[in-house]
Amino acid sequence: MTDAPCPPHRPRHALGVGPAPLPRHRAAGPTPAGRRAVLAGAAAAVASAGTVAGAAPAHAFAGPVVHTTAAWGARRVRTERTPGRPTALVIHHMASPNTSATSLSHAFALARRCQADHMDRAGFDDSGQHFTVTRGGHCLEGRTGSLAALRAGDGYVTGAHVGGANTGKIGVECEGTYTEALPTPAQYRALVQLAAHICRRYGIRPSAISGHRDHRATQCPGDAFHAQLDTLRRDVARTLDSGVLSVSQLPGHPAGARRGAAEEAASLPVLGPGSSGQHVRRAQRLLTAAGHRVPDTGTFATRTRAAVVAFQRAERIVADGFIGPVTWGRLLSHG
Ligand SMILES: [Zn+2]
Repeated sequence: MTDAPCPPHRPRHALGVGPAPLPRHRAAGPTPAGRRAVLAGAAAAVASAGTVAGAAPAHAFAGPVVHTTAAWGARRVRTERTPGRPTALVIHHMASPNTSATSLSHAFALARRCQADHMDRAGFDDSGQHFTVTRGGHCLEGRTGSLAALRAGDGYVTGAHVGGANTGKIGVECEGTYTEALPTPAQYRALVQLAAHICRRYGIRPSAISGHRDHRATQCPGDAFHAQLDTLRRDVARTLDSGVLSVSQLPGHPAGARRGAAEEAASLPVLGPGSSGQHVRRAQRLLTAAGHRVPDTGTFATRTRAAVVAFQRAERIVADGFIGPVTWGRLLSHG
């Protein structure tokens, strides 16, 4: 392939094709400590958005929940922060299967396989990219230290995602292969939210969002997705200008008026501790309607998390306390 400079996109890079061997001590998934880190990471990610919101309109969009490397059970690595602010955001596709798996546990396993692949096969010192967005709409830290640097809004961990030209570039990997298909609605929405958050924290201009192929000879991020990067730049610019998350409907994505519960669920943001806004309020009302009473404060705190866990247990789905596509689908079917 022409994209040899970026090992994540080599044909042998088979993320998601069967269970890749993982170090044994990682295979059991997040530890209780890791789980706590999820919550701390989520709160911190939103808190960082709140820092900016202090000087912005009250309706300023919230940053996404970003799961830390500790949360998904990354190998411990030592990274150094490069001083200065990055000036560009580079979008990739993982060249992995376009799976229908949307769970957080799938996202965590994907992140572990990606890190193992980058370290063991490509010889990187960590995952190459700073952040990952899954087809289920989950945002994860990729390279250790990236989230703390983003929160600081100054300095970054130099990545390994654009061959020898990584200086000043933040990399976001999107799970899937987008030569012909496009990211899922949930994934695209999460990408707009994450990209806008990164641009806001670092002062990156939306026009400085590009695809991997704009820098190196590579397929990445796929013909179909690359053709939509103008839409992404516009959505991020609108979000930053208006303070309200603005997400276009990509070709082939279901139109709002015709959406069923499952499709609507896939288009809604993933919520967790620290999230706030109209979607949280809606989820709280749906929880109450489903018999798990919680005040509709619009803020996702301890009581909401307890109600979500109770709802998930009653529904016999993974009780992780986050409202992702599966939980949204169940809530909407009760609503
Ligand atoms: Zn790439």
